[in-house]
Amino acid sequence: TVRTRFAPSPTGYLHVGGARTALFCWAFARNTGGTFVLRIEDTDLERSTPEAVQAILDGMNWLGLQHDEGPFYQMQRMDRYREVLGQMLEKGTAYHCYSSPEEVEAMRERQRAAGEKPRYDGTWRPDAGKTLPAIPADRKPVIRFKNPLDGEVSWNDVVKGNITIGNRELDDLVIARPDGTPTYNFCVAVDDWDMQITHVIRGDDHVNNTPRQINILNALGASLPLYGHVPMILGTDGQKLSKRRNDVSVMDYLVKGYLPEAMLNYLARLGWSHGDDEVFTMEQMCSWFDLSHLSISPAQFNPEKLDWVNNHYIKAADNNRLAELVRDNMLKDGAVFENAPALPAVIALMKERTNTTVELAQAAMLFYRQPAADVDLLKQHITDAVAPALAHYTEQIASVEWNKAALSAMMKETLAKFTLKMPQLAMPLRLLLTGQLQTPSIDAVVELFGREVVLSRLKKYSS
Ligand code: GLU
Repeated sequence: TVRTRFAPSPTGYLHVGGARTALFCWAFARNTGGTFVLRIEDTDLERSTPEAVQAILDGMNWLGLQHDEGPFYQMQRMDRYREVLGQMLEKGTAYHCYSSPEEVEAMRERQRAAGEKPRYDGTWRPDAGKTLPAIPADRKPVIRFKNPLDGEVSWNDVVKGNITIGNRELDDLVIARPDGTPTYNFCVAVDDWDMQITHVIRGDDHVNNTPRQINILNALGASLPLYGHVPMILGTDGQKLSKRRNDVSVMDYLVKGYLPEAMLNYLARLGWSHGDDEVFTMEQMCSWFDLSHLSISPAQFNPEKLDWVNNHYIKAADNNRLAELVRDNMLKDGAVFENAPALPAVIALMKERTNTTVELAQAAMLFYRQPAADVDLLKQHITDAVAPALAHYTEQIASVEWNKAALSAMMKETLAKFTLKMPQLAMPLRLLLTGQLQTPSIDAVVELFGREVVLSRLKKYSS
């Protein structure tokens, strides 16, 4: 059965590219009834702080990409790596190398000078019939992997197709440092083996690691997973997404007011497709997801498209849920919720045209702050022709039946009586009620505010 893994190195945040990889691994496991493993590659002790690890978990959690196994931490698997290193030394698939860093550097210099590709020259490689140099005193060895000298490594990448690398291109990789700590490619190979990973789906910045990992897995007698390397995500400028130019942390999008389901839907379409479908649920994605529709060319991150998708999900979202999402932002902006319309009802009215919950919070503020219309603006809109109509409207407000149909009929009656056009009365009403000229339909606004608030704001002007 299928086993996929997401194996982030903690850097302080969950990168959108990482989130997309995780989404593909998760969806493929869900599609096949398989298992999705989370593995934290935390061997870089400087970067892998508890906060950096937590940031990954928070990002995964926000998106709802739940793992079935893990999280496993490489730092907690050191004994296992040492055990495997011991077994490889014993089997002769790895060897101690006592070349000093200076010697290795000198070796590389010579090779470069001769126009060759720098690689370890095999001084300490125990090949048959060869006598090794005497072990220098007081020198701690590294452990090198005994890479095959001939032949080639090849795999059928589920995204990129057939890839072949000659073994001559590959070095005898250092798999343990002088202090005994294992190195990156070795840990990944042992982990994928132990965790019985069947499909490695990851960014194509790892293509160069794959032949090395395959050789190590072969030396371990492990069966090989299938590999799929997805292309990078590019910015609108065609460049790789970067922290300096783009919001690359998934959590940036939470702060900016994107819904997790919009984010997932949008990320899904960056490098994977299901016909022309742009908007789909995660249930649909999981039932449709296949590796054969992963795109071979890089996808571009398009913020406008993301806005469009987010707007779709905001319109579809439950208004009580949205209310909870915007309330804190509104309080920070000085919203007063007492004697004001219920927030979910305001959201229902305002959400149509908002792309983010941050915009939604700003739009909803219309109902929760004291209006302060510009005096000149009021004078300009409340002309001598309009003033009596406004007085009449205010009078009627006191007793009109409170529903949109009745309010709208009352509005029409007032306009007819004073032979005015809609905006001539609606604009001053907007100004007096909200301080703004742009609001949803005036009847809807009046209805939501309720009789008392409307009366008191209109009267404040006439007095
Ligand atoms: N830890 C690696 C990274 O964050 C991914 C390793 C892998 O998927 O094999 O780029």
